[in-house]
Amino acid sequence: MAFLPKPFEALKKHFNIPVFIPELACPFQCAFCNQRKISGHIAIPQSHEIIKTVNDYLATFPKENCHVEIGFFGGSFTGLPLLQQENFLRLARPYLEKGLIQGIRLSTRPDYINGEVLALLKDYGVTTIELGAQSFDPEVLKQSYRGHTPQQTIDAAKMILQQGFDLGLQMMIGLPGDTLEKAVTTAKTIISLGASNTRIYPTVVIKDTALHTWYKQGKYKPLTLPQAVEWTKHLLPVFENAGVQVIRTGLHPSEGLLSGEELIDGPFHPSFKELVLTEIWYDKLQSIHVNPSNPIVISVAPAQLNHAIGYESKNRKRLLQKYKSVKFKADARLKGKTFKVTSVDV
Ligand code: SF4
Repeated sequence: MAFLPKPFEALKKHFNIPVFIPELACPFQCAFCNQRKISGHIAIPQSHEIIKTVNDYLATFPKENCHVEIGFFGGSFTGLPLLQQENFLRLARPYLEKGLIQGIRLSTRPDYINGEVLALLKDYGVTTIELGAQSFDPEVLKQSYRGHTPQQTIDAAKMILQQGFDLGLQMMIGLPGDTLEKAVTTAKTIISLGASNTRIYPTVVIKDTALHTWYKQGKYKPLTLPQAVEWTKHLLPVFENAGVQVIRTGLHPSEGLLSGEELIDGPFHPSFKELVLTEIWYDKLQSIHVNPSNPIVISVAPAQLNHAIGYESKNRKRLLQKYKSVKFKADARLKGKTFKVTSVDV
């Protein structure tokens, strides 16, 4: 693979080929998890199925100027027997060698990281390891039956970085005992540990989990959708300002959850991130103070246009309650979440 300096690498379009490996024999019982139901899969995929998935995805990607990664997600990859890990990684190797993919990423538990595992992953060209940190608050981890301590995540994160991998640290919000303050502390810890990326998952109640039992007994209440949006609204800028990429906010809308059979309650929304960005933009737009009887035009960077207008035009509708006429316009000269308001005297 040709080495590209960072600025050129950044210009490439990123694609991910997700391969779900459910951990059927997971010995842990995290209160929120019914792994088979979240991943929507009940069988470990066969080699030929994985190869087909990878080939099918590759056929849809541009041939040039892209950065492709195979991601082994769904369970705790490094909790699998070493031989099984090798079997999966061996499937990805030819794609790496031929330059058809540029990296392999996987997700696992912090306490499933050790020197032997990291050496194996290095041998097979794994580039990024994502740890399910969930929270750095000891009480939240304990109440969620997570089975590891914050210190174990800290130690694993350090080992991963020392061995030259890219580090991802995933977090959950709204677990038992969680507060917005604790979630912000978790985000800051993720940053301070040197993660390059994160995922924010609002906790939902899945059928047949411990949370489900506590929910029925009235001992656990998930965040409402507006609360989860509000919390995430505070977390996103913390990560963005530190240059940590937020790969995902909200659970992936797998069929099981969308059908409503497995999802008992909680802040699940297929466009969760858009809801959050709508609120971030609404806060910014509240700084507009111009004559309400004049039509206003709000210019934003092209990539931000939909977020500024809001999910289902929510922000535009809100502004129309105050201003007679509101238009949003894309302006390529504007960067990030800056905006410009033009108010025309009539
Ligand atoms: S979240 Fe991961 S470690 Fe916890 S029970 Fe589910 S599969 Fe096992």
